[in-house]
Amino acid sequence: MQILDSYLEGSWRAGTEAGARELVNPYTGETLARCSASGLDLGAACAYAREKGGPALRALTFVERAALLKALSGAIHEHRDDLIALSAKNGGSTRGDAKFDLDGATGTLAAYASFGKRLGERRFLADGDGEQLGRTPRFWVQHVRVPLTGVAVHINAFNFPAWGMAEKMAQALLAGVPVIEKPGEQTALIAHAVAKIVADSGILPDGAFQFVCGGPEDLLDHLGSQDCVAFTGSASTGRRVRGHTALVERGVRVNIEADSVNAAVLAPDVDDDSATYEEFLSNVVTDMTQKAGQKCTAVRRILVPSDRVEDVVEHLREQLSRQKVGDPSEDGTRVGTLTDARQLEHVRQGLARLREVADVRTGGEVPEADYPAQIAPTLLVARDSNADALHDEEVFGPIATILPYGGAADEAARLVNRGGGGLVVSVYSNDAAWTEAAVLELAPFHGRVWIGSDRVKGQALPPGMVLPSVVHGGPGRAGGGEELGGSRGLDFYTQRTAIQGFQGFVAKRFGADEPAGEA
Ligand code: NAP
Repeated sequence: MQILDSYLEGSWRAGTEAGARELVNPYTGETLARCSASGLDLGAACAYAREKGGPALRALTFVERAALLKALSGAIHEHRDDLIALSAKNGGSTRGDAKFDLDGATGTLAAYASFGKRLGERRFLADGDGEQLGRTPRFWVQHVRVPLTGVAVHINAFNFPAWGMAEKMAQALLAGVPVIEKPGEQTALIAHAVAKIVADSGILPDGAFQFVCGGPEDLLDHLGSQDCVAFTGSASTGRRVRGHTALVERGVRVNIEADSVNAAVLAPDVDDDSATYEEFLSNVVTDMTQKAGQKCTAVRRILVPSDRVEDVVEHLREQLSRQKVGDPSEDGTRVGTLTDARQLEHVRQGLARLREVADVRTGGEVPEADYPAQIAPTLLVARDSNADALHDEEVFGPIATILPYGGAADEAARLVNRGGGGLVVSVYSNDAAWTEAAVLELAPFHGRVWIGSDRVKGQALPPGMVLPSVVHGGPGRAGGGEELGGSRGLDFYTQRTAIQGFQGFVAKRFGADEPAGEA
């Protein structure tokens, strides 16, 4: 079977047989393709990006780079139906899951195109207003952000092969930095198809986009101080990347987006017949079932006041039973498969650890066979909400645990913060004082705090949704990284520099209100 090729130095090249990994259909177990990057000269790819792609991108203004992103978004969207079909085969994604990934990819590229247009015909960003430094305004400072002159290496997780690649590319390319994309291997067939569209479209300047289809090999060894690495994946791999000798020794910038034991908190004031309660149930069900729970933002811990637990179990069980589990390529299937047998084994082991401290109330059967790599949505209730496993274990599947608590905001926050840092926490309440107290305790431990209330009925986008205009990332266990957030997403790819000198020159050439200077 053919090895999927990589796009390096302007052409497609296949790695060697050594260490080639098989990509499967996780419903049938059929082998679909293989990928390997061994034997490829990744040092030459890094040099190519720095020598060709970087200068070409930096020569363009934000408006011009934005136009490239817009065109890329359109080019990928044209292949939407084929990519959706491929996602069912290689990712185990239902049609809805596939759209979430693909439309997220094209939507983020389009959003960054529109942010870029607003940044104007410049090649650097003014960072805040200028300030007087001396006795008179004559000696002045203006902070600016200029693009790094190296290459951005993007290492992605398997669960969002299209979005993961596109959201990172959008930020780097708009900043003016060329990219090398390395997808998670399990779903590399989808990433490879997207990479083909990007490369074959000819939209980007030569060297601005390269793609490594296989393991990381020695890619990180070739990086230096003007390069950067944005990683998404598990906390354990994140630790290895952060501690990689070459990166540490050369001071290479690293952004880590890791895993997270996200929580949802139901406050005691929320009645069963309120819009807030309905939204709480619906968001929990979406998080447990979408992408078969393989979403970094999916809720794993559900905090419920002790006297409401049985009602919540009943209502969730009823809604979960309506989600059809089955072949992801069939219409009507709502819960697809895990990505492969390895993920099924991860879920088997994780669920066993959760069962030591919690009781299964629906689902919980993990099949003996490897394929279909599938498990029904599984809801547990903790016997002791303080048990470590509940707060430490990210079981990457359609699994969540209810943690009973007393109802006080500070108790809820203390339990949630046991997760050691998360991507998102959702809080459901119509009590402003309770919510404010909870938010202030939760915010230092989370990248996002999402508040559901009757006031946002029918308006709120679910907490599991990562939006281009809102920051994504989280402290501690979540990796300590940050992506997106509109033009904040460009920070990682740019150097903040203070330009000090004669005001007439500094403010005119580099000030926030002045037109184009040179980067
Ligand atoms: P993973 O096993 O940590 O792999 C992530 C990526 O790192 C893959 O591309 C992998 O390549 C690569 N990799 C593995 N070892 C490496 C090394 N020594 N040096 C450099 N790269 C290396 O994670 P995963 O199983 O793909 O993804 C699931 C995890 O990602 C979950 O824990 C989930 O929470 C997390 N996630 C987080 C976010 C977020 O934004 N915070 C988003 C999505 C997923 P290979 O595939 O070639 O092994």
